This record gives sequence, structure tokens and C-alpha cells, in this order.
Amino acid sequence: MDNTENLQYKRIGIIGAGPSGLAQIRAFEALKAKGEIIPEIVCFEKQSNWGGMWNYSWRTGVGKYGEPIHGSMYKYLWSNGPKECLEFSDYSFDDHFGKPISSYPPRPVLFDYIEGRIKKSNARKFIRFDTTVRWVSYDEDSQKFTVILDDLKINKTYSEVFDYLVVASGHFSTPNMPYFKGIEGFGGNVMHAHDFRGADQFRDRDILLIGSSYSAEDIGLQCYKHGSKSVTLSYRSNPIGHNWPDGIKEVPLVTHFEGDTAYFKDGSSEDFDAVIMCTGYQHKFPFLPDELRLKTRNNLYPDNLYKGVFFNALPQLIYLGMQDQYYTFNMFDTQAWLARDYMMERFELPGEAERRLDIDKWLERNSTLKTSFDNVDFQTDYIKDLLALSDYPHFNLDKVAAMLKEWLQDKEENILTYRDKTYQSVVTGTMAGEHHTDWMNELDDSKERYLYGAEEEELIPERM
Ligand code: FAD
Ligand code: NAP
Ligand code: MG
Repeated sequence: MDNTENLQYKRIGIIGAGPSGLAQIRAFEALKAKGEIIPEIVCFEKQSNWGGMWNYSWRTGVGKYGEPIHGSMYKYLWSNGPKECLEFSDYSFDDHFGKPISSYPPRPVLFDYIEGRIKKSNARKFIRFDTTVRWVSYDEDSQKFTVILDDLKINKTYSEVFDYLVVASGHFSTPNMPYFKGIEGFGGNVMHAHDFRGADQFRDRDILLIGSSYSAEDIGLQCYKHGSKSVTLSYRSNPIGHNWPDGIKEVPLVTHFEGDTAYFKDGSSEDFDAVIMCTGYQHKFPFLPDELRLKTRNNLYPDNLYKGVFFNALPQLIYLGMQDQYYTFNMFDTQAWLARDYMMERFELPGEAERRLDIDKWLERNSTLKTSFDNVDFQTDYIKDLLALSDYPHFNLDKVAAMLKEWLQDKEENILTYRDKTYQSVVTGTMAGEHHTDWMNELDDSKERYLYGAEEEELIPERM
């Protein structure tokens, strides 16, 4: 039997049907569309629908089957970077929407775009929804993975065997929740950003946010936009440093709480109605044994992943999307295309020691990065490296990097208006449209309002 015939008897398991898992399915679909024989693919998704983070859940805590809620997104969440920086190069925004849209769409619009691409294939039939991956083991002799699964709908546990396993379970779901002395005596709401579902409940309230990254920045803005009385951001290492409007300020880290009063490192103190920990997330893989588990904090180059995807000790185990992200959907695609070619036995991996050297080279450079611009350049070069190795349609990464840098400057210039800026697609050359309403005045994040809000009611097509 030659290799091609052999391939159809191989089985690939994918954990998660978010943008990364869907990219993996799409990569194989692209080959199948050309008439090629591909292995059998099964994707397990614990939620009832695809989209990962973009599949909004109003729930917090646990879902209807008692599983931890994956989603960390909230009502009124808009893209926090230009959509031109994440565009699929094999499925443009023009392909999907048929008209220019603005550079910063709200969540339902990006969900629609993600879903639009995958709906063009039969991918849905590969996905087992409401199915949680409970445990994975690897057998050295058979060189196969055994995956233990819970079918949540019928409350049944079963197992399946795979030649390759792709972990695409995301890493912005399990909160990192630090302790501050006295917080147990705080009278108001104490939550993590993971459980934040919208700013409505914080109207007319004084809010304390701990953390100084994207969640702190955006949840702070949301609260401001939707009518909180005051927003205070407390940083550990560095303040975000934007030119904040009156009503948002930054202070050093909380030292402790006494009742509803928070005390800060600079000796100041203030009373608050609620505390939101915007303190990031843990890479958490409760279904993986010690020797297969990726162990990392959130950073641009997690250790032990060759080309950022192949687990070095056992490359049949593939991780997608585990990096901190300037690039998102298009990076997951370039990873998934390369992983596909490896599983199709057309991209050959060097030996473990050589892979180690390559990883070390990236880690070394990662440790020298100082500015956000350095970070952008680093991730750009990483994706260039991957792009050269597969047939994922090339896109102008230098232009995307330039856009990311402009985006960083737009935010510094004016954090309230950066989402009103427009960018040009590197996939189609289309210039983004201007949204009919300034972001600060746009309180409705629905797809209908976004796409047709400024037009007559009767112009809204039936399909909406
Ligand atoms: P996820 O989207 O997290 O998907 C992982 C999937 O795996 C989920 O569907 C989950 O249910 C499933 N899963 C997990 N464990 C199991 C298991 N044991 N068994 C079965 N299934 C499992 N990116 C942007 O580009 N722009 C933005 O504006 C943006 N905003 C964001 C806002 C927030 C609050 C957060 C947290 C992230 C944001 N991101 C944004 C980044 C976002 O994480 C990525 O866009 C993208 O969703 C990552 O895709 P993923 O498939 O790797 O992971
Ligand atoms: P993050 O980028 O990992 O940042 C974590 C923050 O928590 C850092 O500022 C860190 O401070 C701080 N921190 C950690 N432990 C702390 C402690 N013990 N005390 C005080 N501070 C602590 O996580 P994130 O901000 O939640 O972002 C996660 C992802 O969600 C990103 O990809 C982001 O793009 C996305 N997101 C997008 C939007 C949107 O608008 N679309 C909104 C929110 C989030 P140090 O700097 O000191 O380490
Ligand atoms: Mg190429």
C-alpha cells in the first residue's frame, strides 16, 4: 500500500471547534475539494455550537450539563483590532458580506464571518457537539491516542482511538484569580473578566478593575461607555498609559481591602461598588496527562512547540492557537495548514534535537522583545516562517504588521475613537467602510443594526 492509500485509514481527533479547530477542518476540506484523499476527521466540541469564544453565552459558571462555561466574551464586545489584521486569506470579508464593512465589527458580525467560511463545506458533520474530552492517553506500542469522551446529551462515556490529536481548546477561558488581603470582606460584587457579560449592571457604580492588559482596557471602556460613575484601573507592572477621559484613571496595585475600601501601593485609598479581576487566564488542559500537557504562561512563544504547533516530545500531538495573539484567525490558519501537511505526510519534521534548536532560537529572540512594535514584528516573522512551508494563500504580512503598529498608535492617540478608523484589506484591496455611528455612541451591537442600521427597515433582507 502506498502512502496515499494508507492515509484514509488514519484518524485525526480535534479538540475544540473554535476558530483554531475550524481552521484545521478547513485545511483538510481545501484538499478534499481538490479531489484528494484525506484521513478521517472527528472534532469534539463541548458547546452546542461552533465558534469557540465567538459563540456567545449569557451563562456564567456552568452550562446546562454542568460543564465549566468556556466563553469569556460579553454583550457589546467589538473587535479590539482591525478586522483587516485577521482576515482569512482564502475567504475575504468581501466574499462573505458582499459590501465593504467597517474595520471594527461587533462580535455577532465576526461570528457570522467565521461561520460563513466553514458553512461552505460539509464540516459540520465532522463535529460532535455537546461532547467533552475528558482524558487522553498515548500508547507507545500502537503509537495511538485513546480519547475518553462524555456525550453530555445522553450522559454517556465512551472512548475512541486516533493517530493524531489536535488540541484547539483555547487558552482564554480558565481565570487567573489572585488573592488580595481582605477581599473576602468586600461587600460588593467580586468577579473575574471571564464572568463579565456586559456593563449594564455597573451603571452609576464605582468600579475597580485589577490588571492592565486588553481585558482591563476594554471592560473599563465598556463600563465608561455604558454609564459607570467611575472606573479605576489598578496595575501591577505598568499602567496602560492611554490618555484616558475624565471618569477613567489608573492607579498602582491594590495592597489590601478593608470592607469596601481598596488601598493602593501609593498610599491612596478609595471605596468601590464592585471589583473585576482582569488578571488574565491559565493555559489549562484538565484532559491531558502530565507528559503531554503544554505548560506555559500567556506569551508569544510557548516552549516545547516546534513551529509553535508540534509538541516536541511527541509531534503527533499538535497544539493550535496557544500563543498570545496580535494575529488571530490568519495565524491559526497558517498553523493548521502546516499541521495538515505534516499529518498528510508531505511536510517532514526534522529530528527532535534539531527541532529543539529551532525552538530555542525563537525563545531567545522572544526574551529580547521590549516594545509592542517588537512583539508585532516577532509574531509577523513567526507567521512568515509558517507561510513559506505550506500552500495557505500568501498575504502581505508586512502590510498587516504596519496596520498593527498603526492600530497601537491609534489607541494611544484616542482610546475612545480608535474603533472609528478604517483600514485596507491585504486580501482584496478593499477599503473598509465607515460605520454609520461612532463607536462611542453605538449602544447596539447586533448584526442587523451593524449591517443595515442606517437603512430603511424594509431593506433588511429576509435572511436576517
Ligand atoms: P477558542 O475560541 O477559545 O475555542 C476553543 C474551543 O474548544 C471552544 O469552543 C471550547 O468549548 C472547546 N473546548 C475546550 N475544552 C474542551 C474539551 N475538553 N472538550 C471539548 N471541547 C473543548 N481575538 C480577535 O481576533 N479579536 C478580538 O476582538 C478578540 N476579542 C477577544 C475577547 C475576549 C474576551 C477573549 C477572551 C478573547 C478575544 N479574542 C479576540 C481572542 C480569541 O481567543 C480568538 O479570537 C479565538 O477565539 C481563539 O480561537 P481558538 O479556537 O484557539 O480558541
Ligand atoms: P492578558 O493579556 O494575559 O493580561 C493579563 C493582565 O493581568 C496583565 O496586565 C497582568 O499584569 C495582570 N495580572 C496577572 N496577575 C496579576 C496579579 N496577581 N495582580 C495584578 N495584575 C495581574 O489577559 P487579558 O487582558 O484578559 O486578555 C486576554 C485576551 O482577550 C487577549 O487576546 C485580548 O485581545 C482578548 N480581549 C479582547 C477584547 C476585545 O475588546 N475584543 C476584550 C478583552 C480581552 P502584568 O503586566 O503585571 O503581568
Ligand atoms: Mg507558502
